[in-house]
Amino acid sequence: MAIAVTGTEEGGAGVGDSPMPHVVMVSFPAQGHLNPLLRLAKRVAAKGLLVTLCSTDDTARRIAAAASTSVGALADPTRVGRGFIRFEFFSDGIAPDDPVRQLDFDFFMAALRSAGPPALTALVRRQVVPVACIVGNPFVPWVLDVAADLGLPSGVLWVQSAAVFSIYYHCHHALATFPSEDNPDVTVQLPGLPPLRPEDLPTFLLWTSPYQILKIVILEQFGNLSNASWVFANTFDELEHEAIEAISHHQVIIPIGPLVDPPAEGAGSKEIGGGEIKADLFKAADESIQWLARHPPRSVVYVSVGSVVVLTEEEMEEVAWGLKHTGRPFLWVVRSDARERLPAGFAEAVEAEGIGMLVEWSPQERVLEHEAVACFLTHCGWNSTMEALTAGVPVVAYPQFGDQVPDAKMLAEACGVGVRLPAPATRAELQRCVKAVTEGETAEAIRRRASEWKEAAAKAVSEGGSSDRHIQAFVDDLTKKAARPTN
Ligand code: UDP
Repeated sequence: MAIAVTGTEEGGAGVGDSPMPHVVMVSFPAQGHLNPLLRLAKRVAAKGLLVTLCSTDDTARRIAAAASTSVGALADPTRVGRGFIRFEFFSDGIAPDDPVRQLDFDFFMAALRSAGPPALTALVRRQVVPVACIVGNPFVPWVLDVAADLGLPSGVLWVQSAAVFSIYYHCHHALATFPSEDNPDVTVQLPGLPPLRPEDLPTFLLWTSPYQILKIVILEQFGNLSNASWVFANTFDELEHEAIEAISHHQVIIPIGPLVDPPAEGAGSKEIGGGEIKADLFKAADESIQWLARHPPRSVVYVSVGSVVVLTEEEMEEVAWGLKHTGRPFLWVVRSDARERLPAGFAEAVEAEGIGMLVEWSPQERVLEHEAVACFLTHCGWNSTMEALTAGVPVVAYPQFGDQVPDAKMLAEACGVGVRLPAPATRAELQRCVKAVTEGETAEAIRRRASEWKEAAAKAVSEGGSSDRHIQAFVDDLTKKAARPTN
């Protein structure tokens, strides 16, 4: 049943006679961007706003397929707390099912940049409930220009750490010296951050990075950022206080994380809710939760490298046999594009011996909050990093590129919630790392710190917490503007 969100008393979703403030959020089509924006949408909606979450038509097809629903059904508003969320999509200018999206990043970005602005402008103009604000996220900086052309205020959700924001900001504005081909051995000194050696930096900034296009795309976002009225970041004050303070002398960033859905039951689940609304691009193996339930507390090793990283065949082989030899049950996410890299006979052996479970995609947040999970072998994408801290799960950090490298350092060193698995992984090192975070005195200390971070994360997003107050201020601001009579 479609719910009226006309913003009137009649529709039952209004704030008095004023229209319910309507925020359009626009996500770059990647899992690591969609998840935090949707979670922000839920937190904002829960406080009484209507949010329309937008991405490309191709994303719509994938979300609908993963959720076994239709694209049309995604447009229906779903109640979340005191507000609503719905989805709407626009064309990226490429024909449906054209593999060029996956094969040629340059081409895809150019197509999106050309088709996105007019399509988003039309989408905003056709909204029945007038739009109060547009919020974009990384890789779609043109969203801010669309908002400005429409005379609307805009915001950005930064989906990585404040530390990484600061590093990129200083690089874009040439405010510090970074390693270069001529001067490779530079220690970067930035306010609010420890000295950064080249190996501590997001790898895309290094002149040796094979992904120079990503450096351009990432830094480009800082060009028009000052047009945004709000720059939110998926982090929290207790985690990155100094980095947030220091960068805010140049550009104020508003910590509103960790953006993680509240557990299915427990604090926040009722006030926020909307846990059933997902933007998964892959179908999650929900049966993994039943599988976890058959294992004792703190027994299972959970392994995932997110939505982009693909390990080499050699790494897959070492991880496979390393996991087997830990003697612990394991839940390993092997996406379909990595399946053929598994060692021959391994999947069959896992099945026959009942030593683990291989899935193409997991309901990760629910997995991490399950008591059977002992540790998380992660690539340290920022969402996974936030989810691990929120769940209080010890980690074995195995970063590959980009911000995963500083994220791993933060988890293992600054937060003290895990250890780093040296690259390239070997089975012996993997076993050693899993043991280090699950058995003995070191593991005990790691678990204690993980519990402390879990508590701090929960506090930040609970009512009146440091992040919650920032979200409330944003909602209050828009609500006041919506209530103001227009001439
Ligand atoms: N994720 C998931 N199931 C999986 C693997 C990942 O739901 O099997 C989610 C995970 O919870 C996170 C996102 O996908 O929210 C991945 O984002 P992250 O920043 O960790 O890594 P990326 O995919 O961007 O490299």
